[in-house]
Amino acid sequence: MHISKHIDFIIVGQGLAGSAVALQLLKRHKKIMVIDAASTHAPSRVAIGMFNPITGRNSVKTWMADQLFPYLHSFYKSAELQTHKRFFYSIPLYRPFCSIEEQNEWMSRSVDPIYKDYIDKIFTRPWHDALKDNFGGLVLRQTGYLDTLGYLEAVRTLIRARGTLFEEVFDDELLDVEETGVHYKGYSAQHIIFCQGLESTRWFKWVPVLPLKGEIICIQCDLCENIIVNRGVYVVPVNQAGSWRVGATYSLTDQTRGITEKARIELITKLNELVAFSYTIQSQEWGFRPTMHDRRPALGTHPEQKRLHIFNGMGPKGVSLAPYFSDILVQSIENHRPLNKDVDIERYKLLYWSPSTRI
Ligand SMILES: Cc1cc2nc3c(=O)[nH]c(=O)nc-3n(C[C@H](O)[C@H](O)[C@H](O)COP(=O)(O)OP(=O)(O)OC[C@H]3O[C@@H](n4cnc5c(N)ncnc54)[C@H](O)[C@@H]3O)c2cc1C
Repeated sequence: MHISKHIDFIIVGQGLAGSAVALQLLKRHKKIMVIDAASTHAPSRVAIGMFNPITGRNSVKTWMADQLFPYLHSFYKSAELQTHKRFFYSIPLYRPFCSIEEQNEWMSRSVDPIYKDYIDKIFTRPWHDALKDNFGGLVLRQTGYLDTLGYLEAVRTLIRARGTLFEEVFDDELLDVEETGVHYKGYSAQHIIFCQGLESTRWFKWVPVLPLKGEIICIQCDLCENIIVNRGVYVVPVNQAGSWRVGATYSLTDQTRGITEKARIELITKLNELVAFSYTIQSQEWGFRPTMHDRRPALGTHPEQKRLHIFNGMGPKGVSLAPYFSDILVQSIENHRPLNKDVDIERYKLLYWSPSTRI
């Protein structure tokens, strides 16, 4: 007689999205199984890992910053405690001004209640002789970086200890879906959550996740400051003294798998506009961010199969989006709590869900 092992959740994919879901479920004492093929160029493995609440060309407060940023701090700190590993670095970000007008603009924003929690200080004169910051600059707080490789490895070890881990490719054809649960390779689970990034299960092919290519360079220099520098590119310290990651490029049109000369030149040009020190380039890396057309994450439950769920579309901000929205998704599954329309996959149902896409 065939006896299946009973668990609560299967998670497919252990990038930033799947790891956050796994931690949420372990915190709730759920029995989980994670299936992950750990592809080398998964964006979670090449990401700079930076988080910053003030972004974009106009340097404005990012979407939902007041919820996402306090949440991510407590989430990663608690993950460090659970795994007994260090991977979360809460450090300031320095953004040199490019004009007196910009300096004035930030002087007025510094008394605006919308920004006051995020501004640490403003320099009206150059702060560092290794930087091109003639007009001074702005120091932001609630910024920092996640050592994503260290984090993924720590979560993987925790899953091995407190759940089941399959380090292999998930095979869609072997998944049986019933009203009461799902079955996969001798395991029965109440739910399955797909956190696959750009890889897609046939069940959610209609959710249009787009590849947004990014490249970064890793440099070595004499500058050893525990601060992120940003103007055009992010320059983020790595654990070893003098090592920095510089990035990233954004391209929705370049679909080539691999590093490019064009991206390298773009990054070097922007870096040279920002820094006054010499450096050597150690390596260059690439990956495709799983992005939605509206730059919001995509989460929710399959329209017909209530045991199937998706957590995807983290785009360029997986480090800050995954903690908060994994909690939201798990609450919606457990308590049937409706999702915010901005993030619910329901927004694609009318556009792309048709009998021909039904399974
Ligand atoms: C160059 C670059 C720089 C970036 N910098 C930052 C940054 O500074 N800050 C930030 O917040 N974000 C950054 N990002 C974006 C960030 O990397 C993404 O938001 C995030 O990694 C997406 O995570 P994910 O788990 O959804 O996807 P992924 O990282 O793609 O993870 C999916 C996982 O699922 C596995 N998988 C898929 N299908 C299967 C299957 N059938 N069987 C088994 N396993 C499967 C894959 O192997 C992978 O391990 C950057 C991205 C790039 C490319």
